[in-house]
Amino acid sequence: MKRTAYIYDESYFWHNTGHGALFIPAGGYVEPDSYVESPESKRRVKNLLDRCGLIKELDVINPRHASKEEIGYYHTPEYINKIKSLSDSGGGDAGDSYTPFGKGSYEIASLSAGGAITGVDVVMEGRVKNAYVMSRPAGHHAEADCGRGFCIFNNVVIAAEHARKKYGINRIMILDWDVHHGNGTESAFYNDPNTLFVSLHQEYNFPSDRGFAEHIGEEAGIGYNVNIPLHPGTSNAGYIYAFEKLIVPIANRFKPELIIVSAGQDASIYDPLSRMMVTTKGYKEMTEIVKGIANRHCNGKLVFCHEGGYSTAYVPFCTLSIIESLSEIDSGVEDPFGIFHANMPVIDRLMDHQKESVDKVVELLSPYWNLDKEIGKADVLSNVR
Ligand SMILES: [Zn+2]
Repeated sequence: MKRTAYIYDESYFWHNTGHGALFIPAGGYVEPDSYVESPESKRRVKNLLDRCGLIKELDVINPRHASKEEIGYYHTPEYINKIKSLSDSGGGDAGDSYTPFGKGSYEIASLSAGGAITGVDVVMEGRVKNAYVMSRPAGHHAEADCGRGFCIFNNVVIAAEHARKKYGINRIMILDWDVHHGNGTESAFYNDPNTLFVSLHQEYNFPSDRGFAEHIGEEAGIGYNVNIPLHPGTSNAGYIYAFEKLIVPIANRFKPELIIVSAGQDASIYDPLSRMMVTTKGYKEMTEIVKGIANRHCNGKLVFCHEGGYSTAYVPFCTLSIIESLSEIDSGVEDPFGIFHANMPVIDRLMDHQKESVDKVVELLSPYWNLDKEIGKADVLSNVR
């Protein structure tokens, strides 16, 4: 049995976002260029896995489509029909003017959601320990009735609902480390005490009016929505601090039966859509910690779904380091960009203002999770493997 599934379909790379510039449409004085959300960063992940040979050690699985009923676990019938009709007639925008798509993208988006469902199935049925889904289009910004930020259907929400319906799981943890706030996922579970949603993101990035620390859920779900807005410039040290101080302690109290990760590698040091400084080493360490939580509470059951990540050159290396950790196989590939940031002391140094931003969330959530006890690094890491 291979430890890790790699789930993808060639058509993920055929989802066509057309021409824009960075993330805005072309027009006026904006000369048409490729949108930053293009197939390249994702296709190059597959290429690197092929090139270094790690793909041979993975259980490569083609996804199935999510049915209309499954997409309807979250999205409204009107929205699903609108996407289908636009897709059939040549393409359009999914709602916010920043989610363009071409002809046939309904089928590709349903295959992307189906990839997340397939990931849940192969992990829950014990075919593999964990799975990495190369989902495209991404999903975490998509709301029930509106696409946003290049996301059409919310893959992880649909996968979580599938896990509940098919396997009777109650407690699901969704960890979203995409640098943008997972607004669509937050909306889906804001009242739900059985879904622990944790989002690490750059403050005031996108959507700029969502993801505030004070948004901690409501009604029965109060305390189960954990937003960790981080200052620009946060590096590996700040992210790991958030895990040690906040994410691991809360997860240990929540005791998830399944963990789904919205894995956007756009907090990387070379990403054009953020100002964060996470490196391949940081992504590997975060994955190790999440694996530790999964091993402790749910027999290692872990499904990663790819979200954003826009440095075509660097996303493949960040994603490789995640898959190395999941599969527990060293590909032998060194981070070729490592020499350019190896001597930057800020990568591994926690700045006071970064510490304070995490401590503020700890204070907000302490009444719900009894976080007063100081959790030291040794405690957390001793449980990792
Ligand atoms: Zn993102």
